[in-house]
Amino acid sequence: MRRRAASRASLCVAIALTARAQTVAIKAGRLVDPETGTVSTQQVILVEGSRIKAAGASLSIPPGTQVIDLSSATVLPGLMDAHTHMCLVVPKPRSPGFEAALEAVLTTAVFRTTGFRALEGAANARGMLEAGFTTIRDLGNAGNYADTDLRRAIEEDLVPGPTMITAGRIITPYGGQYSRLTPERRDIGSPEYLYADTLDELKKGIRENIQYGAGVIKLAVDDQPYIYSAEELRFAVREAARAGLKVAAHCMTEAGARNAAQAGVASIEHGWRMTDEILALAKKNQVALAGTEHPEFLLADAGVSVEEHAAYIDRLRRAYRAGVAIVYGTDVFFALPGQTRGTLAISYVESFVKAGLPPKAILQALTTNAARLLGVDKERGAIKPGFAADLIATAGNPMEDAMALKQVRFVMKGGRVVR
Ligand SMILES: [Zn+2]
Repeated sequence: MRRRAASRASLCVAIALTARAQTVAIKAGRLVDPETGTVSTQQVILVEGSRIKAAGASLSIPPGTQVIDLSSATVLPGLMDAHTHMCLVVPKPRSPGFEAALEAVLTTAVFRTTGFRALEGAANARGMLEAGFTTIRDLGNAGNYADTDLRRAIEEDLVPGPTMITAGRIITPYGGQYSRLTPERRDIGSPEYLYADTLDELKKGIRENIQYGAGVIKLAVDDQPYIYSAEELRFAVREAARAGLKVAAHCMTEAGARNAAQAGVASIEHGWRMTDEILALAKKNQVALAGTEHPEFLLADAGVSVEEHAAYIDRLRRAYRAGVAIVYGTDVFFALPGQTRGTLAISYVESFVKAGLPPKAILQALTTNAARLLGVDKERGAIKPGFAADLIATAGNPMEDAMALKQVRFVMKGGRVVR
């Protein structure tokens, strides 16, 4: 009885706290609006509970308000990575090249349980958040839905991490992303991949994923000689849209990217071999590009050759010129000593700088454009009243030099200070 009375009392306290959400005032030396590319100075951001209440230069700070002084820093919206794999950590490939990297994925899938991969995901998610990523889209390779479990654990406050939109199992033609499998292990690609070779199987695969927690549908279009056609992709886009989901299409070949651009998927992933003609088609059909342009120092770990790298830096430059919506996506699936998944992910800014994109475009890829693609642009990706209080601060000004993003000093997610 006594115990029950005590728990009732603590419940009352909890209700009282929720009713009177705490207000925090953040003094921002510089405040960046990535959408317009403007930088305003000496701003105040009022955060109430998990949301931004107001932002401006002449806001008065109510007495008793907790003040966070970032008057010597630059404040901007929390960053987004549209192509992550939190629950995938592969050993270093034995040789360079994409095939060897996928062989390493197979090794991981065979030797690590879904449970262990969810725990690896928790460590990676924390690293992402601490580096300034407050929202991520996770595109599969999570065993038997470890991504759903990780997302739930973050939502239920069991572990720290960004807001996640997850893909569940990657839908692919027979064989998944593996090549040279043997007929003696016909299902070795499962559960990492969900095979769908007919329209019925595509429909069923999409529905299965949604049932088990997917918020986006990921298709690997062209890792087999028998690639998805534009017609099949259009069917998948329609089926996903019926449940309010978008399609992300992994495209490694020119033909695959063309089919995806024709079908009007939400985003092309990688798209390293997109010609100007395909980029124009992507722009026309409002297909975003999450190009996963690895920085030079990570090429060996990502299984990417120097020639491929040069080609996709050039493709990033051409995509920007063509006016395609460019979204920041990293595709980190390995670990390096002394680095977190987050410090690795933010280092991809180097490729954007190398491709010659201006800071405003880089910041938009990390916020505005990403929020739109992820379908969270009504509440995330900007510092505006009513939006989630997801914000970060850097010592330098990323609007002058985007590399300043590598030095994130402060992170707030949903009104809570993470760092
Ligand atoms: Zn990927």
